[in-house]
Amino acid sequence: MPGRTLNVAILGSTGSIGRSTLDVIEQMPGGLLRAYGLAAGSRCRAVVEQALIHRPRYVALADGAAAERVAEALRGTGVEVLCGPEGIERLAADPEVDRVVSAIVGVAGLRGTWAALQAGKTVALANKETLVVAGSLVTGLAARTGARLLPVDSEHSAIFQAMRAGGSREIKRVVLTSSGGPFRGRSRRDLQRVTPDDALRHPTWSMGPKITIDSATLMNKALEVIEAHWLFGLPAERIEVVIHPESIVHSLVEFVDGSIVAQLSPPDMRLPIQYALTYPERWSSPARRLDWTMPFQLHFEPPDRTTFPALDLGYEVIRRGGTAGAALNAANEAAVARFLEGSLPFLDIVRACQSVLEDHPYDPRPSLETLWDVDAWARQEVRRWNS
Ligand code: NAD
Ligand code: MG
Repeated sequence: MPGRTLNVAILGSTGSIGRSTLDVIEQMPGGLLRAYGLAAGSRCRAVVEQALIHRPRYVALADGAAAERVAEALRGTGVEVLCGPEGIERLAADPEVDRVVSAIVGVAGLRGTWAALQAGKTVALANKETLVVAGSLVTGLAARTGARLLPVDSEHSAIFQAMRAGGSREIKRVVLTSSGGPFRGRSRRDLQRVTPDDALRHPTWSMGPKITIDSATLMNKALEVIEAHWLFGLPAERIEVVIHPESIVHSLVEFVDGSIVAQLSPPDMRLPIQYALTYPERWSSPARRLDWTMPFQLHFEPPDRTTFPALDLGYEVIRRGGTAGAALNAANEAAVARFLEGSLPFLDIVRACQSVLEDHPYDPRPSLETLWDVDAWARQEVRRWNS
């Protein structure tokens, strides 16, 4: 264990990953981890409650009006309130911060992650969209500044852990597991009329709404294939996906001799979050444990690519590179938002993504500005998309 307190900045502290991170910090023996800064979008009450419990140095709100209300509520507590995306960037790059948990949802998480990497921080990355949109630029930046990206996504944490069993040249391929989501075993016909409520009922994980819908379309797995490509430097053909409904085997690494090393634990994000905070050490954890006194079974099956065509888009984005990830991600964010508000049928989420990916103004070597332009263009296309 380190000799001093590790200062953690949590970008997205009021979300599912943010709250689990605070739970990990709270359950650690005193003085090991400190919530040094909290950042969120606009949920004032939740962030004020967190600040009163954890007494961070900073709280940052993306929304200006929310920042003012939070500053009012925290007056006299010594917590400094920062405002806007610039405030979040300032927190992420603060010299006192040891680890940044990147857990804002969507491409909105890119700026804070970028600021942290620019400052050479170790980033515990939950926000996979950052790598989907700007994987080449983000990993290039980290290489230049000496910053580190540690995976929080359970599959990537599992691969990261299993990879410690061999050298990088001994790895044949990685196999990402997927629960299959709430619609595993259904046909496309069955999916024509599913509602947001149906899609939000995930069988094994409790997560924010956007990633829960991504899990229902299997777009989440497509995004994770891209994430694995950038995190581990693997080509598309060395990244496999298998359906594993129990969500206990979080992913596997196959070595050249045919040996397969996997990481197992009950579905509980506190474990991969904590590993990214304490790496390279392992500390005792509040996460749930497997109970070997009870019988249980583990199942594996290949994904149904006809019912869930989203998966193939992940592979296509890796092959095309350039602006393809930004187009896919923005189309998906906009389509999921429309599905949740009831203006787009479930199957049209992926149809809209396919069409935007195909038609977008492709650039093989985009700058960050170009990626933002493609993001805006793709969102606009989806907003006026009709099947
Ligand atoms: P969530 O919706 O529960 O929380 C999102 C957080 O982001 C909130 O704190 C919100 O205030 C903040 N936010 C949203 N827009 C913002 C903006 N414009 N500026 C600043 N803050 C903003 O989401 P989640 O489920 O915790 O997921 C967060 C990220 O982690 C996503 O990228 C997701 O893919 C990834 N992830 C989540 C899980 C999980 O179990 N929830 C697992 C793996 C990866
Ligand atoms: Mg995952």
